[in-house]
Amino acid sequence: MTSGDFRVTLLGTGVPIPSPDRFGPCTLVEAGNRKFVFDAGRGAAIRLYQVGIPLGRIDVQFLTHYHSDHTSGLPDVWLTGWLASHFGRRTTPYRVIGPTGAHELMENLERAYARDIEIRVADEKLPRAGVATDVSEFDRDGVVYAQDGVKVIAFEVDHGDVIKPCYGYRFEYGDRAAVFSSDTRYNENVIKYGKGADLLVHEVASAAPGLMQEAYIQRIVAHHTTPRDAGRIFAQTRPKLAAYTHIVALASERFAPPTIDDIVTETRQTYDGPLVAGEDLMAFDIGETVTVRRWQSPWPG
Ligand SMILES: [Zn+2]
Ligand SMILES: [Zn+2]
Repeated sequence: MTSGDFRVTLLGTGVPIPSPDRFGPCTLVEAGNRKFVFDAGRGAAIRLYQVGIPLGRIDVQFLTHYHSDHTSGLPDVWLTGWLASHFGRRTTPYRVIGPTGAHELMENLERAYARDIEIRVADEKLPRAGVATDVSEFDRDGVVYAQDGVKVIAFEVDHGDVIKPCYGYRFEYGDRAAVFSSDTRYNENVIKYGKGADLLVHEVASAAPGLMQEAYIQRIVAHHTTPRDAGRIFAQTRPKLAAYTHIVALASERFAPPTIDDIVTETRQTYDGPLVAGEDLMAFDIGETVTVRRWQSPWPG
């Protein structure tokens, strides 16, 4: 990669459903020799291991909001990255940046795992500094990280009236940018901060028309963005590539979930530009153009 180029990998493109195909929300960004992770849903440590990222070598863990599907993999990444084996061995504090609530989450995790921490310090002689946390919180739009040519800007999104705080992120490196919507319904702030993005990664939620009549489905969809509305976001932002993640495909006993083709077809009603439906471990090389690579297992079978 040349300078200014960086890579985004979708480690988990799923939702609260414990699917083996789509793990919990988690996105990796590699720029220069730095590694950043956005959210850490179920299986985040497994996916990081799969792509060969030492768990203890993550520079910053960013959080978007506190729904458990976005954070349940966090203690695994934090604690396993401290171990002397399995590519961990972190010796400096685990850095976390998130909206208000990050301190509370990390302090309570430290309490929950206090016994494990004491045991490993006594038994394995692991350094306390490596399991310590270094947490920064923010409560408004703005730059939340700026170092070594990397700039990360948080921007508030709208995940529903009581699901607050909830923030998306714009990641800039050189003159290139990737933007992550986080969980949100159609929101102008994504357009504002998505302007000029090389890659725009957006969530989406869809249900068969018949299922949309159900009140509980309407409540879920009201917290998210329909394919048609996501298309409106993409059409106004015009990224080099738009990608879906956090794909909420709703179903019931009577209605099958919409397929990826259904979701893309509905998006096409409002957007005709470059679009890909994300998959776990799909990577994007961001340079003059955005190149998509699908995961190919290095292991036989
Ligand atoms: Zn959420
Ligand atoms: Zn979510």
